Amino acid sequence: MRKVFIFRSLAIIISALAIFPIRGQVAMSEDKNVGALADEDRINLDCLRGAYPEIISLEKKTDGALFLRFRNGAEIPYRTRGATEEDAATSMAQIYPPEPARPDPIDGFSPGRARPYPFLEALYGENKGEVQKKLKTVRLPGGKVALTGAAAEALARVAPRLERLYNTRPDLRKFLKVDGGFYWRKIAGENKASAHSYGLAIDLGADVAPYWRWAKKPRHQLQKSYSPEIVEIMEDAGFIWGGKWDKYDLMHFEYRPELICKGRKLYKKDENQN
Ligand SMILES: [Zn+2]
Repeated sequence: MRKVFIFRSLAIIISALAIFPIRGQVAMSEDKNVGALADEDRINLDCLRGAYPEIISLEKKTDGALFLRFRNGAEIPYRTRGATEEDAATSMAQIYPPEPARPDPIDGFSPGRARPYPFLEALYGENKGEVQKKLKTVRLPGGKVALTGAAAEALARVAPRLERLYNTRPDLRKFLKVDGGFYWRKIAGENKASAHSYGLAIDLGADVAPYWRWAKKPRHQLQKSYSPEIVEIMEDAGFIWGGKWDKYDLMHFEYRPELICKGRKLYKKDENQN
């Protein structure tokens, strides 16, 4: 009798959750012992799960560390003790300013440049061979590019918009020339894998849109004047633009849909508060 009662109660609770999903919360029924989450964590997790169906739950370890559980069983650090740079939460801490926002990047403000490597490896592959297996080619008006499947599909959806821009704005053609996608390498001058290693990044217009290390300018005028049309289209596909970074990379667009999602939610909120 008692068991039946418990089962019935559970069934009622589960169906109530299905009818009244708690907005802004990750599916709590699947998350394990995580307790109450801060608002920012809820937004992070909403954006992560919206972008990556591979994530099934958030789990807490006995030491308090939070991990994302992937469908394939992988445990990816979300927030660990000491909050390392590789935690997914750390990689989302700086809020990417979506178009039309072009704030002056203060020193150290490069949202998306801190990358959660365990997360990227679980999604896209741990070595060159694994990453290569997931690559797909996309045709853009300025050339072809090889990116990891999810990024390639997202870019293919906006390719017609880029094509229209290319045809109607000859002045922007030089900015739309494809100068690289997948490339297994370290970041120039640093001992970290580049986003290009995972097939996440595309470089456009390298001749006209430089990288901070080569440009030798602390700030670049293109950070403010670069075509908002191109950035908007790329952001709609889930790509952040390296032109908004303190360590700017004006040719660089990187598939980080969770950062676009968070930026669009929180940046708007900040504006409303002002
Ligand atoms: Zn790049």
